[in-house]
Amino acid sequence: MTNSALPAIVTRFAPSPTGHLHIGGARTAIFCWLLARHHGGRFVLRIEDTDMERSRQEYTDSILASMRWLGLDHDGDPVYQRQRFDLYNEAIDQLLAGGHAYWCRCSPDEVETMREKARGEGRKPRYDGRCRDMGLAAGPGRVVRLKAPLSGRIVFEDMVKGHIAVEASELDDMVLRKADGSPTYNLAVVVDDIAMGISHVLRGDDHVNNTPRQILIYRALGADLPLFGHVPMILGPDRQKLSKRHGAKAVIEYEKDGLLPEALVNYLVRLGWSHGDQELFSLEDLVRLFDGKNLNSAASAFDPEKLMWVNAQHLRGQSPEALLPRLLPFLAEAGVPATDEPLMARCIPLVQPRANSLTEMAAQLRPLLTPAKDLIYDEAALARAMTPEGREHVRALRTTLGALVDFDRESLHACLHGYVEQRALKFKAVAPPLRVALLGSAGGPDLADAMAALGKSEALARLDKALQL
Ligand code: GLU
Repeated sequence: MTNSALPAIVTRFAPSPTGHLHIGGARTAIFCWLLARHHGGRFVLRIEDTDMERSRQEYTDSILASMRWLGLDHDGDPVYQRQRFDLYNEAIDQLLAGGHAYWCRCSPDEVETMREKARGEGRKPRYDGRCRDMGLAAGPGRVVRLKAPLSGRIVFEDMVKGHIAVEASELDDMVLRKADGSPTYNLAVVVDDIAMGISHVLRGDDHVNNTPRQILIYRALGADLPLFGHVPMILGPDRQKLSKRHGAKAVIEYEKDGLLPEALVNYLVRLGWSHGDQELFSLEDLVRLFDGKNLNSAASAFDPEKLMWVNAQHLRGQSPEALLPRLLPFLAEAGVPATDEPLMARCIPLVQPRANSLTEMAAQLRPLLTPAKDLIYDEAALARAMTPEGREHVRALRTTLGALVDFDRESLHACLHGYVEQRALKFKAVAPPLRVALLGSAGGPDLADAMAALGKSEALARLDKALQL
């Protein structure tokens, strides 16, 4: 087969809307999206909402919002399984008509008894096939089962796990249509994956045991198989099942915490895929490099500290102009004045090297963006630094700085150093009072940088205010 005859790459993400999008699901979605984008294929979204009790619209909305935030755009409208029961029933009818499926009248209790019996005899618990050749018709309480092959092997090459083979005798005749008329998960997934032209089914390895069963449905429907790939679960740092206690959150929480979506994408991709030992990737890098190979078959552990580190690196790589609009909601949330755009653009580089998230950045910008008249001083820091001697330094510096013509960082550096050297002082005698007078607390960016960013009149106004306290 020549390349041009190869089927187009179509991947899908198929969340069940029974909760918010968590990092495991997000990583699966990212892999599927990257694979499609890398090959110029399609990425489609299917909402698996057949569980009427647990599925909720608010979760669908939240999953869609998280995907939008992550930048995982899907092709075409999302497909809702709930709207496709006709399609599933048609497939079931086709299987019945072709002799690949049959009606079964065994009650759940009877099936449970068969399972018990098998367990008791040391065999795999399974349905014993008693209705298989009875030629039963539809009827209340009846289910439809697949007439699975009794011998042979089901074999597939998993994109992640490699060669997988299962004896057909291991699998029983699975239910395709439940007694209430709804399709089972395995039936609906296969019918949809065929109808949607999915070429690569990449999903969590909690589904790997479903795949041989799904392959039987593909065969019975006479459809070609897609490629399957099952990515290992993300574990907690203690190698246990990942949960909240490990600091793992829903994607919307990370958005609220001020992570950059591209950083979360970068971190999550690296949890199951590698490109040499490179740690930092832009979205463009990932689209270019991610070809579905080099997926780890071993489970990786979630590390919240590394996630923050990756986020900090992405924050540092942004231009202040690009960060500014992304910071606005966080400044608003924190009640930090955010109207003076040139001032913000000057101050952002000062906090960029010190903040790990947009939330931290907004907090660190507060003393810089709050005008002198509203600046709140940390009482303890003020008391510590504004000793009579400290106050004298601030007063003297106020005069010296007031006489400066150029108020850029070089001139300010020279001015501060000149002040210290002339008086044979240590910088640490002068910096703390100046800092608290200027920014309201201990800690923060370089003083010359801060003053240059604030501008002369604002910097002097702050010193004046502190001297009056
Ligand atoms: N809806 C399933 C889940 O959320 C995914 C099914 C699949 O990817 O085949 O786990």
